[in-house]
Order: sequence, then C-alpha cells, then structure tokens
Amino acid sequence: GTDEKKAMAEIHELLAKLYHHCLLHTKQGRPALDYLEKRGFTRESIERFQIGFAPDSWETASRFIEKRGLDISVAEKAGLIGKRQSDGKPYDRFRNRIMFPIWDRTGTVVAFGGRVLEANDEPKYLNSPESKIFHKGKTLYGLNLSRAEIRQKQHAVIFEGYVDTISAFRAGVTNGVATLGTSLTEDHAAILRRNVQSVTICYDSDKAGVEAAFRASEILVKQGCTVKISQMPDGMDPDDYINKYGNESFLKDIIGASLTVMAFKIQYYRRGKNLRDEGERMIYIEEIINEIARLPKAVERDHYLRQIASEFNLSLDALKQQQTQTFKQQQ
Ligand code: ATP
Ligand code: MN
Ligand code: MN
Ligand code: MN
Repeated sequence: GTDEKKAMAEIHELLAKLYHHCLLHTKQGRPALDYLEKRGFTRESIERFQIGFAPDSWETASRFIEKRGLDISVAEKAGLIGKRQSDGKPYDRFRNRIMFPIWDRTGTVVAFGGRVLEANDEPKYLNSPESKIFHKGKTLYGLNLSRAEIRQKQHAVIFEGYVDTISAFRAGVTNGVATLGTSLTEDHAAILRRNVQSVTICYDSDKAGVEAAFRASEILVKQGCTVKISQMPDGMDPDDYINKYGNESFLKDIIGASLTVMAFKIQYYRRGKNLRDEGERMIYIEEIINEIARLPKAVERDHYLRQIASEFNLSLDALKQQQTQTFKQQQ
C-alpha cells in the first residue's frame, strides 16, 4: 500500500544520491565522469539532472540498502535488485552504468535509466521496470524540472531520451521533456496539455523517430495541442546535432525552424524524390493525399488539397474524389 510506495521512493532517493556521489567523488566513477565530459556534459547539467554512476559491483546497492535498514524486497520489486537463483542472495541489477534518475511529477525519484559506457553486446540502456511508483506511460522525463519554464514560455519540446533532453537544456532549451523511448501515450499528452498547448516534437531523425513523431503528433492534436516537428539532418539526434553544430544553431536552425505537422510531412515525402518524374510525382501526390485525408478539420483538408491542385496543375475535383476513396479505405 502507501507504506510500500513510500519505502520504494525512499530507496530510489537514497540510491540516486549514492550514485551521484560515486560519479563525482570516487575513483571508480572517474571513467564515467570522463565519458560524460567527453560527450559534452557540464557540471551544471550533471547537477541539475542528478546524474550518477552505478559501480561495477554486484553489491553496492544491496549492501547500502541493508546497511540503512531498508527493505531489500521492496528494492527487488522495483527492479533495482535481483535474487540469485542458486541461493536467493541479492545482487545489483544496475552495474557499471551511468545512472539517470527518473522523477515523478512531484520530483521524487521513482526509477532509473542506466547507460553502459562503451557500446558492447549488452543493451545500451537498462531501464527500471514498471512498479507501484513508476508508470512509464504516464512519466515525462524532466517535467518536474522544466514545468515552470514550460508554463512561462507557453511552449514545450519533446525529446526521445535523457541525453537529448540534457544536451538541449545545455543549449538553452529549458522547457524540454522526454518520453524515454516509448511512444507518447494519451496520458503523456493529457499531462502535457494541462501545462501547455504549444509543443514541438524533436525526435531522432531516423525512420523510427520520424514515424514515432507522426504518431505522437496525432495523439497530441487529439488532446488539443498545437504541434510542430523539428527536422534534423538524416540519422542525427538532438544531442548529435548540438555537439556537431553548437547551441545557437540548434536553437535557430532546428527548434526555431520547426514545421507544422503537414509542412513537415510534405518535405518528408518530397525528400529524395524527383517530382519531374511522373511515377515519383504520382507516388508523392498519393502519399500527401493520404495524409490530408487524416486531417481532422475540413478547412485544413481543403487548404492543402488546393495547394496540391495548384502546384501540380490538377483539378480539385479529381483530388477530392481520390481523397474520398482514400478516406473510405482508412475506415
Ligand atoms: P545515447 O546518445 O546515449 O546513445 P540516445 O538517447 O541517443 O542515447 P536512443 O537509442 O536514441 O539513445 O534511445 C532513445 C531513448 O530510448 C533512450 O534515452 C532510452 O530512454 C530509450 N531506450 C533506448 N534503448 C533502450 C533499451 N534497450 N531499453 C529501454 N529503453 C531504451
Ligand atoms: Mn532513437
Ligand atoms: Mn538517439
Ligand atoms: Mn544520442
């Protein structure tokens, strides 16, 4: 019940402090700190986001929990601790990883994301599982830190991951949150909408990221948000971009140049196509008509259909007919 939730939250809070200390003030944390510095993390961002390091040991967390008289079975339920099959001995699940605390909306640590330092065959990120206090589909990473700025700027920026949120913060995007690799849920959108109407989606510029951005935009629009999407050079994510082109360019050329969802889709489907080629042009027109058919407002549909009609010298009637067919197929 409530007691277990409290105990679980307390363990996370204390472990976050321990991991943060290990990163900044121990010899074991040195390679992790070097790694973060090499990636451009500043002291300020390490502090603000309470980044830590879980040492390469099977019993740092479990010993700490026992020494503090905390309940190890609660830590086990939260996915922090595992139990050895042979003898039931507890062991740390997060080892030799950079630790990103994940907060609930009140700013209590309720989960962790752990990243390996070097790419090897382990999964790059290990995240806490769902628990009594951590509901992935309702948690927006960083919202506790950025809520005031989001309200003040009346604008929020949504990223895919911790690293992007943190790098963007360093670049001046103090109103960022992340969905932690999961797709944005209706709950996420509803929580955001309570704070802000205008949002920019700034996901990774790979196929998965663009598709996730399209889905997220629909969910956000349904909740009443006004949505823009940022575009980055192919294959890059916000952190890559900032490290390569700098803070100012990120603010001006990426965040500042975000496009409305439809404008983004138009340039996305155009990319790499030769519209002077009839076949490619037809494919493009069909893709766009498909998208237009999905727009909720008749006025918007009309606007974009006219745009296509005039650009390609087609009759509006033909486009409307085609769209009606498309719409029926989608039902
Ligand atoms: P980095 O720059 O450190 O490689 P990233 O944010 O670019 O990190 P991505 O692979 O783009 O990493 O993933 C985006 C987000 O998705 C991560 O921040 C993390 O929250 C989540 N994620 C990625 N891989 C996993 C995984 N294997 N398990 C759980 N979550 C993951
Ligand atoms: Mn990605
Ligand atoms: Mn990424
Ligand atoms: Mn990245």
